[in-house]
Amino acid sequence: MPDGSPQLKPRTLRDAQSLAEAGLIPPEAQAGLARLSATYAIAVSPAVQALIDPADPADPIARQYIPDAAELVTLPQERSDPTSDAPFTPVKGVVHRYPDRALLKPLLACPVYCRFCFRREVVGPDGGLLTAAELEAALDWFAGSPQVREAILTGGDPLMLSPRRLRHVVQRLSAMPHIDIIRLHSRVPVAAPERITPALAEALETEKALFLCVHANHAREFAAPARAALRRLAGAGVGLLGQSVLLRGVNDSPEALEALFRAMLAARVKPYYLHQLDRAPGTARFEVPIEEGRRILRTLRGRLTGLAWPTYVLDLPGGAGKAPLGPDFATAEGLDWMVEGPLDGLAHRHPASGA
Ligand SMILES: *Cc1c(COP(=O)(O)O)cnc(C)c1O
Ligand code: SF4
Repeated sequence: MPDGSPQLKPRTLRDAQSLAEAGLIPPEAQAGLARLSATYAIAVSPAVQALIDPADPADPIARQYIPDAAELVTLPQERSDPTSDAPFTPVKGVVHRYPDRALLKPLLACPVYCRFCFRREVVGPDGGLLTAAELEAALDWFAGSPQVREAILTGGDPLMLSPRRLRHVVQRLSAMPHIDIIRLHSRVPVAAPERITPALAEALETEKALFLCVHANHAREFAAPARAALRRLAGAGVGLLGQSVLLRGVNDSPEALEALFRAMLAARVKPYYLHQLDRAPGTARFEVPIEEGRRILRTLRGRLTGLAWPTYVLDLPGGAGKAPLGPDFATAEGLDWMVEGPLDGLAHRHPASGA
């Protein structure tokens, strides 16, 4: 860059060539990864670039977003649409599987593309923005479904919508008497915190209970810009929850999970779910066996404030729902219960009531 020229504005890296130029992949990997980007979208936002230590080949932030040739290998147990949204779609953009709540997917774009994403075959930068008419039809479905008490905006990432569109969706849902809860699932507060402008926070203001479930998997994702964005959202009356995926090489140790949950809580985000990895194509390098996940969580019980405790869940393929995976501390013995003490590790008998 010649002297005196303006500093280039950091931008989202979207292909193998720009990743190589930024030093985030070795030059010799570029050709192979160029092929991969035709199948799975790539995006590494400026906020995420700032969190990556390029000198660390095992950097837990890079691992979540930098593509790897291993993604081109699909194992037999991996499936497209692992959570089986398709058969539960009454109108475009809506997924209704549980009686009292339904998903609204206004678009399929995200600020970053996570390498382990369970919707990786459908999300992408030009993906799935509902037309104005389709969005109205989806909102009309909510209006005509009085059994649905909660609207869950997901995608893609609903905070990629403009504040104007977001306000419209929130206002329409808020006007439905049967809707008590509006929930949004988003990566934006950690991956693109600059999008959380006053206008965006204001667009989320409503009389209804509105929760934002922030997706983050590593303590370092809660850097100063993310914390400031979350504080702004809290100031707008937004309830903050956290969701994470248990990921090999990112958070698969008691220390890493403890640091993650503590960083979440310090940013006023209550850990809600820890997801077992959904087996989407090309994601095998991230899988941690369930037994190991239960063991890691067991060591955290008692050591970590109870506020930090998420529910560890598996979203069953075929649309059978999200099932808690434990760890459990209680086993039946006849009519009594044997309960392991988190602090002493001993089995304590809780006798049957005798009533
Ligand atoms: C995950 C999911 C929900 C939300 O489930 P909670 O357990 O309430 O977080 C709702 N609908 C669908 C289709 C889902 O996949
Ligand atoms: S932000 Fe969510 S939907 Fe988007 S790529 Fe990451 S995991 Fe998938």
